[in-house]
Amino acid sequence: MEFSKFDVSSLMEITKRPDLLFVRGSGSWLEDQNGKRYLDFIQGWAVNSLGHSSPEMVLALREQSQLLINPSPAFYNIPSINLASRLTSNSCFDRVFFANSGAEANEGAIKLARKWGQINKKGAYKIITMKDSFHGRTIATMSASGKPGWDSIFKPQVDGFLKAEINNISSVESLIDNNVVAIMLEPIQGESGVIPANIEFLKDLRILAKKHDLLLIVDEVQTGMGRTGKLFAYQYSDIEPDIMTLGKGIGGGLPLSALLAREEVCVFAYGDQGGTYNGNPLCTAVGLAVFDIISKKEFLDSVLRKADRLSKGLMHLSNKYSLLGERGFGLLRALVLSSNDANHIVEEARNLTPEGLLLNAPRPNLLRFMPSLNVTDAEIDLLLEKLDYIFERISKD
Ligand SMILES: *Cc1c(COP(=O)(O)O)cnc(C)c1O
Repeated sequence: MEFSKFDVSSLMEITKRPDLLFVRGSGSWLEDQNGKRYLDFIQGWAVNSLGHSSPEMVLALREQSQLLINPSPAFYNIPSINLASRLTSNSCFDRVFFANSGAEANEGAIKLARKWGQINKKGAYKIITMKDSFHGRTIATMSASGKPGWDSIFKPQVDGFLKAEINNISSVESLIDNNVVAIMLEPIQGESGVIPANIEFLKDLRILAKKHDLLLIVDEVQTGMGRTGKLFAYQYSDIEPDIMTLGKGIGGGLPLSALLAREEVCVFAYGDQGGTYNGNPLCTAVGLAVFDIISKKEFLDSVLRKADRLSKGLMHLSNKYSLLGERGFGLLRALVLSSNDANHIVEEARNLTPEGLLLNAPRPNLLRFMPSLNVTDAEIDLLLEKLDYIFERISKD
């Protein structure tokens, strides 16, 4: 079955896609239309926390789909109540609003902060975000993002987002005025290349926000739900943010996201916030199955052990081929290349035979690794072996 049999002309082209299509997935492996297998270190961009079609998720989907799929968000349902209480009892937050994507959760965070500003800060509405940050692809979250070029593609932007520099507290402080209501950041900038906010910076932000009566919002869409080896990345710094957003891994591959806030911040009035699919029992039942696996201490410990294996292996490759090192927390890691051939390596990896390898290059000089959180040691070793082979080949070119 060749790719040319398929007519893709009815699809809106929004990104350059390779001439293959995936028909099956299991754990760390994807299979294409010709039966070729690929070791997947993208996992839907850090989405499939338990890998492709994990048995636990499939079971939750099957059971819940036979019971109740969508009664409407204007009625309570059991899985959403249970998942919300799991999240609040394992974090510093008191209440949860479920949504369907990271961008939608962040929109909710922005709305909540603005509403809080109307009530508590004489209508202050501006939010300080970071240069090179990524918060989603709706108009408001693109405006909140600091991705170069995004200030003009769909102009005019949504007003009220000021850009500071990550790990530079005075760049944040100098932007504060009476119209500022919140500071929002990713604990580790994911899309811009796995750039961690350091712990001192997060602590300083917490102090600064308190001093000026601002809300501190962490976007943990990529870093949350065990990805870094703790349930949430903010827990590395011992701070308590006021608002947090979750996405990606929370649904293990299903569209599910969440907006969490401390009680004092939960100021939405009836009608301020909603959405047709929000908190539906099908997705939250799967979220529950995912949560009950990844929140176990032994599971999080295993994420850290695997991260260590991956980190050491990448560092070894970096030394062997004179690359510029590796970084990250848990199973969100990046390897910094010494030249801009990341896209070339992504292609070489995919084209390996008999088994391909799926990698992501968020920057021209950077490879990002986001395996499932239950990736095996053998799969990590296989990744490293395949990378070694590619670097070896490239170094001879
Ligand atoms: C992926 C991502 C988003 C957007 O999530 P979507 O589900 O694609 O809307 C927002 N913030 C961060 C940090 C992300 O990594």
